[in-house]
Amino acid sequence: MATQNQYSMQDPLKQYPGPNFERQPQSPPGLAKDMNPRPDHGEQSYQGFGRLKGRRALITGADSGIGRAVAIAFAREGADLALNYLPSEEADAQEVRKLVADAGVNAVALPGDISDEAFCRELVTRTVSELGGIDILVNIAGKQTSVESIAELTTEQFEATFRTNVFAMFWLCKAALEHMPPGATIINTTSIQSYQPSASLLDYAPSKAAITAFTHALAKQVAPKGVRVNAVAPGPIWTPLQPSGGQPQEKIEVFGSEVPMKRPGQPAELAPIYVVLASQESSFVTGEVYGVTGGNPIT
Ligand code: NAD
Ligand code: MG
Repeated sequence: MATQNQYSMQDPLKQYPGPNFERQPQSPPGLAKDMNPRPDHGEQSYQGFGRLKGRRALITGADSGIGRAVAIAFAREGADLALNYLPSEEADAQEVRKLVADAGVNAVALPGDISDEAFCRELVTRTVSELGGIDILVNIAGKQTSVESIAELTTEQFEATFRTNVFAMFWLCKAALEHMPPGATIINTTSIQSYQPSASLLDYAPSKAAITAFTHALAKQVAPKGVRVNAVAPGPIWTPLQPSGGQPQEKIEVFGSEVPMKRPGQPAELAPIYVVLASQESSFVTGEVYGVTGGNPIT
């Protein structure tokens, strides 16, 4: 994909590629480096303004997609980072580690499987010991596997989706809140699927609805501590989640055509929202869900 300038005024319909795309099956969790076209995570474009200077952030799903874009943006805004991803994604993670190191911040890679409660606790403990504390928790990792019929949807898949998308968020929030000072923020990643569920995402869509409700409830619970909790609800975004089983390949060909802007979003288009929700600029925003959908409302 050509280098994009995120800051100059331009027609957003033409800013990034739209359908048709090639079929490009990958096995989950998939790699950004094997996508065509390669997603734009803001590698060439994101400009930091010191908005997160000195903050310590744990980001899950940080190797690719939305998580990579957030890691790049947070690093360029001055945050020290703990980066979580699956060990099988090391090739993508290496690219992120280099980009983050180039930004001159302190970063530690903590690969591992967040569907395991003990690992989630360890992830927070290690973030605190390596970075000296935790001010921002960004839950971005997620599992999405399209299955046409309820008859073929297994208990194993249903449980794995909820463990990865919902339980891990609960375990990480619980552990992180023990260490978070006033001014700290949590950002969860829900989906348009929380509001407009697809027929083939019978486990994923309700897991995202759970994330939305958890965000609203936790925001109320921890407001008295001065900790804010928000969520981002993406629409179709060009990331490895989708061609690696998140959608059937025939839907990859027309991915993004269902939204008014007639193209998928790129991870780089989400990072600024996570930055503003993490920074003190959004000091009166909590319990909110911010849609980045290309025009389909989150209602
Ligand atoms: P992605 O594949 O780049 O990121 C998902 C990441 O989840 C993977 O990179 C992997 O590191 C992580 N992950 C999955 N299972 C894990 C596990 N058991 N342990 C640790 N990490 C694990 O795709 P993305 O689209 O950037 O996804 C990020 C988030 O955005 C997800 O929560 C997804 O549900 C959400 N989302 C994506 C879209 C979209 O269209 N791409 C739309 C709405 C919401
Ligand atoms: Mg990945």
